[in-house]
Amino acid sequence: MPKRDYYEVLGVPKGASPDEVKSAYRRLARQYHPDVAKENPKVAEEKFKEISEAYEVLADPQKRQRYDAMGFSGVETEFGPGGFGWQNFTHMGDLEDLLGSSPLFRQFFGGFGGPFGGIGRTPARRGHDVEVTVRLPLSAAIRGARPTVEVPRSTPCADCRGTGARDGTALETCPDCHGEGQVRRVQSTGFAQLLTIGECPRCRGTGRRILEKCATCGGNGLRTSVERIEITVPPGIEDGAVLRVPAHGMAGPRGGRPGDLFVQVELEPVAHLRREGREVFAETTIPLGVALLGGEVTVPTVEGQAKLSIPVGTQPETPFRLRGEGFPRIGGSSRGDLIVTVHVEIPRSLSGREKDLVREVFGTVGRPAATKRETLWRRRNGG
Ligand SMILES: [Zn+2]
Ligand SMILES: [Zn+2]
Repeated sequence: MPKRDYYEVLGVPKGASPDEVKSAYRRLARQYHPDVAKENPKVAEEKFKEISEAYEVLADPQKRQRYDAMGFSGVETEFGPGGFGWQNFTHMGDLEDLLGSSPLFRQFFGGFGGPFGGIGRTPARRGHDVEVTVRLPLSAAIRGARPTVEVPRSTPCADCRGTGARDGTALETCPDCHGEGQVRRVQSTGFAQLLTIGECPRCRGTGRRILEKCATCGGNGLRTSVERIEITVPPGIEDGAVLRVPAHGMAGPRGGRPGDLFVQVELEPVAHLRREGREVFAETTIPLGVALLGGEVTVPTVEGQAKLSIPVGTQPETPFRLRGEGFPRIGGSSRGDLIVTVHVEIPRSLSGREKDLVREVFGTVGRPAATKRETLWRRRNGG
């Protein structure tokens, strides 16, 4: 079967954000869950493998970049001989709640020699990723910012060093799995007997049994707390961008490596300003007199206000460029421009004297007919 494009597999556009990729993957993973999949198990398994391979590449910025540039050949080496396999899959944390909900799903993984099967003890799992949102003023996209975020964290319990056993008490070899952390089960599927290897439910894969639980953590070896972390938001950041802070997610159970922290940046809009990449657009209205004679007006900028000098005879809807009042690129130093479109305010009514002056200055060419009321007024007053 020829390989399908990874974006097509996940059903996301080329420019999809990391969040969109992740939620597409989770949606599909749920769809091909063996408890609910409408396809036969073999097809569902293939499907699941296909979407997991696509996710393995698209969820990793570097792999994704190589794939975008060179296609499958750019990521082939990732998977070694034999292509993608579950040993290559690094996003178990993203499936943890799905997996946890179904023993059948764990067997499904065990079935293809995944992280829950194979020989030897079940490896320690990676901790959950944590996602937080931080709201910043739009000017943060010019200067950058260092906001502090509060994130929930679980860290290995200091009192039992993450073992879950009360300090000084021994861990006993699990009697159910004899220390292997896995149990083999023979299951009749209707067609054949199926041998499955799953995590030992008694010791949850550790191979050890706790004789006396640690009082501090209740035996799970983890402590939860709130951590304050300073985040570096670089100049040039776009609204909705997601920053990854490696290893600041939840601690992995039983000594697994921690998950990552993802910080989504929301930028508060500034009234009357519209951002497009490095440039920012504004509109302002000037009096007719300023358009005719020139002058100086104040216009809004991302960080406050700026003076804009209007030359004599400025036409309506003229765009003016204020250099360097826009945004920098990430990693770049020079800033884009602010482009101000100038509207000219035409007075809605004029006094008689003003009208006479306009006629005198602008002549009689195209002179408009006086209104009926005006004609009557002039007749009565000898105008
Ligand atoms: Zn403890
Ligand atoms: Zn056991």
